[in-house]
Amino acid sequence: MKVIDILNRHEVTISFEVFPPKTDDRYAQVEEAARKIAALSPAFMSVTYGAGGGTSANTAAIAADLQNKYGTTVLAHLTCVSSTRAHVAEMIHIYREKGIENIMALRGDIPKEGRSVFDYDHASQLIYDIKSHDSSFCIGGACYPEGHIECESPSEDILHLKEKVDAGVDFLTTQMFFDNNTLYNFLYRIREKGIEVPVLPGIMPITNKRQVARSVSLSGATIPQRFRMMVDRFGDDPAKMKQAGIIYATEQIIDLISNGVTHIHVYSMNKPEIAAGIMNSLSEILR
Ligand code: FAD
Repeated sequence: MKVIDILNRHEVTISFEVFPPKTDDRYAQVEEAARKIAALSPAFMSVTYGAGGGTSANTAAIAADLQNKYGTTVLAHLTCVSSTRAHVAEMIHIYREKGIENIMALRGDIPKEGRSVFDYDHASQLIYDIKSHDSSFCIGGACYPEGHIECESPSEDILHLKEKVDAGVDFLTTQMFFDNNTLYNFLYRIREKGIEVPVLPGIMPITNKRQVARSVSLSGATIPQRFRMMVDRFGDDPAKMKQAGIIYATEQIIDLISNGVTHIHVYSMNKPEIAAGIMNSLSEILR
């Protein structure tokens, strides 16, 4: 099924993300986690893709397993920054062969050591390529409520986002954020600029202290005082921090639903117990 058809139903739904293993010896472990998350019946599951393409075979294999063995709608990610056009064409072909209908089209982070391949500069070029290979794919794109970390200003980032949407994006998923007002503000600003596609808020449950610094440095997300106090109080006790993190994420989701958002994407980080904690807390709301 296409993700856009799920979103157009306007029902309250949750989707989850998993990331493939970097090495084959961890494949079975990740597959088991993905299977347990799929058993929670999310609206769909996304499977990430290494920026350098290192996980490409595992992304395709896990996505195909989720779809063909467990009947889960999947969104397979694809990055282009370190790929040749030939490799991208091959991945599109593989996704098509495996019956995958949804692709999250991303540039990927530029490697610290610099790029060795220069076929793509921006995700919009990848979107054109996917569309020209097969216009029937449903395509997602990334967006950044606080502005992408490389961009000079949030307004400029929104102009580039508009270019990306005009290239053929069917829906957008946001970078993590910890204060919902950031999202409401962003939605207002993009709608004003004529970006009308559905936007899925991406919620990251922070369930251990180490994740905070990593997530902030990768995403540039602002940490609200309320969140900071939670980490300060529970960060050194793993069980308490996990519970507090799941509740914080669930409260964000409830506030989003209360304000009319119908679909939320959760960065479940291959942790079935975190995905289950959120689904159980929302059982009546999702019924
Ligand atoms: P783009 O849309 O190309 O934007 C990148 C930067 O270029 C922005 O600053 C933008 O403003 C600017 N820009 C765009 N077009 C132009 C233009 N024409 N001229 C000048 N500047 C321009 N990474 C992975 O490696 N694997 C994943 O699976 C993955 N999944 C993700 C899922 C989501 C929901 C999100 C939010 C991010 C994900 N990322 C993933 C991270 C993502 O690859 C990085 O954030 C990357 O730095 C930007 O990717 P993009 O697709 O948003 O790039």
